[in-house]
Amino acid sequence: MVNLLDVQNVKRTFPRGGGEELLVLDDVTLSLKDGEIVGLLGRSGSGKSTLLRLIAGLSRPQGGALSYMGAPIEGPVQGVAMVFQGFALFPWLTVLENVQLGLEALNLPAREMRERALAAIDLIGLDGYESAYPRELSGGMRQRVGFARAVVVHPNILLMDEPFSALDVLTAENLRTDLVELWGNRKLPIKGIILVTHNIEEAVLMCDRVLLFSSNPGRVASEIKIDLPQPRDRTSPQFEDYVDKIYVEMTARRVERMRQQVGVAAIEMPLSHVSPNQISGLIEALSAAPYNGKADLPDIAYEQELEVDELFPVAEAMQLLRLAEVEGGDIKLTHMGKRFADGELNERKEIFSRALQNHVPLAAHIRKVLDERVSHSAPKTRFLDELEDHMPEDAAEETLKTVVSWARFGELFSYDDDAAAFSLENPT
Ligand code: ADP
Ligand code: MG
Repeated sequence: MVNLLDVQNVKRTFPRGGGEELLVLDDVTLSLKDGEIVGLLGRSGSGKSTLLRLIAGLSRPQGGALSYMGAPIEGPVQGVAMVFQGFALFPWLTVLENVQLGLEALNLPAREMRERALAAIDLIGLDGYESAYPRELSGGMRQRVGFARAVVVHPNILLMDEPFSALDVLTAENLRTDLVELWGNRKLPIKGIILVTHNIEEAVLMCDRVLLFSSNPGRVASEIKIDLPQPRDRTSPQFEDYVDKIYVEMTARRVERMRQQVGVAAIEMPLSHVSPNQISGLIEALSAAPYNGKADLPDIAYEQELEVDELFPVAEAMQLLRLAEVEGGDIKLTHMGKRFADGELNERKEIFSRALQNHVPLAAHIRKVLDERVSHSAPKTRFLDELEDHMPEDAAEETLKTVVSWARFGELFSYDDDAAAFSLENPT
C-alpha cells in the first residue's frame, strides 16, 4: 500500500544577510503510513515547524522531494490539516463558525457544512459550546476548537505542531488522553498523524514511532519504535524505559557534539543562555537527597518540572564548567560541583570564576584583553564582531549575554549595559 506521506532527502535553507544561507533542514527523510502516529522530537529551532510547512505544501524545499499518497506535493494539499500551538481562532466568530471555516475550501452546501462542523464539535467534546466565542472559553477548550477545525475536513494527514504546549499540565493531559482514545476507537476521520513535540513523555504516550531530530541543521538522527499497547501507562516500567532510552540518545548525541566543539572551536563555541541561578539551582537539587550527587536525567527533569529544552542547556553548561558530568542518562556532580553545593556564596563565586578562566575560553579571552589594555575596558563590539565571524548574529548576542551573566556572578569582569562596554571596574 502506498504511504500517506514520503519525505525524501529534503533540504530547506533561508536567506540570511550578506548573501549567506541558513541551512535549516538537511537531508530529511521520513514516511507516514496509514494508521500511524509519528512523533518528531527535537529542540526548538531544529526546523520542525519548517518541515510541517513543507509537508502541508505551504513552502517548497531547495532539494529532495515530498509526496502525498504517491503524488508529488507542489502546493497546498487538500488532505492535510494542521493544528497549531497558538489556537489561531477568530475572536469575532463563534465556535461553530470557527470550525466551519475549516470547510471553506471544500465548497460544500451550507447544510452539509453545518452538519459536519456540529459532528466535529461533538466528537471533540465541545457539545453545547457551538455559539460561544473564543474569549468565553478556557485554553483547553480553545485548543479543542483548533482540533475540531482540523478534523472537520476529514484530512488524511493531521499535522500537529506542539499542540499541547500552551496548555497547563492537567488540561494538556486530558486532551492527550481524549485524542488517544478517539484515535484508538477509530472515531477520528483521519488516517495518519504527525505530532511535533519537545516533550519526550508526550511522544512516548502518543506515538507509534518517534523520530529524534537533531539541530543545526535539522536532521532525523534516529528512530525509536514504541512497542506498547494503547492506552499507555506512564508509570509502567516499560514506559519509563522508553523515556530513558530517548533521553540517553538525545544526551549522548549532544554531549558528543559538545566535546567536538570544545576541541575544535574554543572561543567561538556558541553558549545557550543559562543563568548562574539555574546552574546553582540544579547543583543544589542534585547534591541534596535523594540524589546525593547523581541523578537520572529524566528523574531530575521531572522533579524540577523542566522540559528537555530547558534541562539540557543547564546540564551542558554545568558540564562545560566541569561542575558536573553527563554520561548515558545520568548527571553526576564533580568534586568541584560538590564543593560548590556545600560552599558559601563567596566560595561559590571563586569556584565559578576559576571554572570560567579554565574552561570557558571566551571568558578567559575577554579577561585577558581587559587585563592587557591600559584602560582595562573594551567595547562590546570588540568581541561581538569576533564572534559573528563564526556564528549567526543572534547566537553571538546570546553567547555574549551568557558569558556576561556568568562573569558577573564569578566577578571575573563587569559589563555596563548602557555604555555597552566591558571593564574590570568593581570586579570584586
Ligand atoms: P522549530 O519548529 O523546530 O522550533 P523552526 O522550523 O521554527 O524550528 O525554525 C528553524 C530555523 O529556521 C530557525 O533558526 C528559524 O529562525 C529559521 N526560520 C524559520 N522560518 C524562517 C523564515 N521564514 N525565514 C528565515 N528563517 C526562518
Ligand atoms: Mg516550531
